[in-house]
Amino acid sequence: MAKLSIKDLDLNGKRVFIRVDFNVPLANAGQEITSDKRIRASLPTIQYALEHGAGVILASHLGRPKGKPNAEMSMKPVAAKLAELLGKPVTLAPDCIGPEVEALLPAPGEVLLLENLRFHAEEEANDPAFSEKLAKLCDVYVNDAFGSAHRAHASTVGMIRYCSQAAAGLLMDQELKYLGMATTNPERPCVAILGGAKVSDKIEVIENMAKVVDKVLIGGAMAYTFLKCQGHATGKSLVEDDKLELAARLMAEYPSKLVFPVDHVVASEFKAGAENETVTEIPEGKMALDIGAKTIAEYEAIIGTAKTIIWNGPMGVFEMPPFDKGTVALAIAVANSGAISVVGGGDSEKAIKSAGVTSKISHVSTGGGASLEFLSGIELPGVAALTEK
Ligand code: AMP
Repeated sequence: MAKLSIKDLDLNGKRVFIRVDFNVPLANAGQEITSDKRIRASLPTIQYALEHGAGVILASHLGRPKGKPNAEMSMKPVAAKLAELLGKPVTLAPDCIGPEVEALLPAPGEVLLLENLRFHAEEEANDPAFSEKLAKLCDVYVNDAFGSAHRAHASTVGMIRYCSQAAAGLLMDQELKYLGMATTNPERPCVAILGGAKVSDKIEVIENMAKVVDKVLIGGAMAYTFLKCQGHATGKSLVEDDKLELAARLMAEYPSKLVFPVDHVVASEFKAGAENETVTEIPEGKMALDIGAKTIAEYEAIIGTAKTIIWNGPMGVFEMPPFDKGTVALAIAVANSGAISVVGGGDSEKAIKSAGVTSKISHVSTGGGASLEFLSGIELPGVAALTEK
């Protein structure tokens, strides 16, 4: 079901509570923001609300303060960075609920940033009384924090019960549009590329995507659990022996959809620059750290026919050159395919960045865990709670 968007709301003269994801990486005992990417990602929603006459209340968690105030996880540096990016003052509230906050509520055109939601244990506990206090601050609710939508917390789910309308922000809208299209109604042929360390982390994604897409290209360490199951030697490669049965079941269920590497770059040591060779059968004592050239060519050909591509997880140990070649080659193939491309997960994002092709990807998801759950077909509680159109 389609969810209400911020664009459907009448914001004029209203106080809008926007749940953002300002969980930024910090250094220097919480004084310095090392990447402002997450703040920038919500700027369009904040600016939209301001331009449409709203007073804006922003709320996020930051780090894991475990329910207690902690100066190293204060929103103070976020407020300063946000003011710089917006080019207007941002008031930082001393807390996220209570009379002191209520005294600071923004007039139209003003921005109030609440202090870290997780300074209260009630946030993660989705406590009703805390939820009601948050809701009391606003007229309408907007969720732009896709990265937190897989958590049922007070600010993502609980407070919505006490708000008249709950809509998706522009960033959330974008995530739902692309991930929703890719998992329900993709333009065909639709190809999923799934890699990474473990079958166990991605099993639900493989199962759900195999139902929808035309081909699933498997790479990364998780390929070796499947290859062992097919009777291939896997040497010292990462294999999850307790997942062999599961791998067998998936291969039996989707025999023509799942595609596996046919050659591998192997080394004796797990080390950047380790001496390596490309083989079709993995020798004893060696570990496969990347897909080989034949596999790259085969995967590139399939990617070249796709109209929609969903990618999650690297094809090899891409942090350790030269074992990044397979991942980088596929990143370039995806970028040049002309297909609608949706990339999810921190490692895949790093890979497209290091291949220099980020701008050619249709959508790079901002939510690691949330996008994995979405691709697994799980309804995210923070999305389910939003008002239907
Ligand atoms: P994930 O978080 O599941 O997407 O896994 C990403 C991690 O998988 C990265 O740190 C990669 O280095 C690792 N990885 C990918 N391929 C291999 C491989 N063949 N052997 C060991 N680790 C791998």
